[in-house]
Amino acid sequence: MRKAQYAMVIDSAKCIDCKACVVSCKVANGTPEGFSRNWIKASEPDFAAGAKPRTHFQPGACMHCEAPICVDACPTGATYKNADGIVMIDETLCIGCGNCIPACPYGARFRNPQKRTADKCNYCPERRAAGLLPACVDTCPTKARVFGDIMNPESDAARLLEQHKDHVVQVINQKSNTAPHMYYLASTAPVDWTHEAVMPASMATMTGVVDPVVKTLVGLSGLGVLVMLGRQLLSGHDSSHDSSHDSGPDVHTGSDVQAGQAHKQQTDKE
Ligand code: SF4
Ligand code: SF4
Repeated sequence: MRKAQYAMVIDSAKCIDCKACVVSCKVANGTPEGFSRNWIKASEPDFAAGAKPRTHFQPGACMHCEAPICVDACPTGATYKNADGIVMIDETLCIGCGNCIPACPYGARFRNPQKRTADKCNYCPERRAAGLLPACVDTCPTKARVFGDIMNPESDAARLLEQHKDHVVQVINQKSNTAPHMYYLASTAPVDWTHEAVMPASMATMTGVVDPVVKTLVGLSGLGVLVMLGRQLLSGHDSSHDSSHDSGPDVHTGSDVQAGQAHKQQTDKE
């Protein structure tokens, strides 16, 4: 039987930077002030390029990567990838160590100062269970964000990928290619803003070697974790990961886009 793979397809040309998606996400998920699960990046207009330079807007959020480094960085198994392609956080297992935050090349994660756990987009599971679209998709007035099962040819997301199969781009950091499952139609050039993943040294050696159960035991038994727990209790807010994505590009090191391969890569796996 065909396995569902949920993903987001974004037509950046339709984005008008109204930030309705950012606001609706905050309302739907109760994201604390100063933090956001999604964002709009903006390019700098190139005035040397011609008479009518323009700013390109690029909506984003967690890319629900095929090879999520955040999962490898998590010592407790709290961060995991579902069979349906969605990368989730089990808050009951999260100890708030923050390892996953610099590991994500997209800055998609932050430490929720209220819950003291990692936080990011999860495609609104409560809404989906009720038959609704993720809040950002539902709210977008121009339908720049499209969500669906890209393995279902009847879905809008799959149709868009098929229609634009030669013009689909993924935002990829060449030093940290996580095979993101967010697809941009190439009508506008995505902005360069990713950063190289930073793995905690202790976790880097465990990556891909041990299973989640062992990771859980190791993660919970180490002295380092006790120190992390202490830090979590003492600090209520980690300003270094304030997710002010909607203010535009923040990091500009070594990222790139990969054109025309996105849908093919996906279908090749079938
Ligand atoms: S975008 Fe970042 S947080 Fe989301 S799955 Fe990829 S590595 Fe993990
Ligand atoms: S904060 Fe630590 S325990 Fe929680 S999801 Fe991130 S890496 Fe895992």
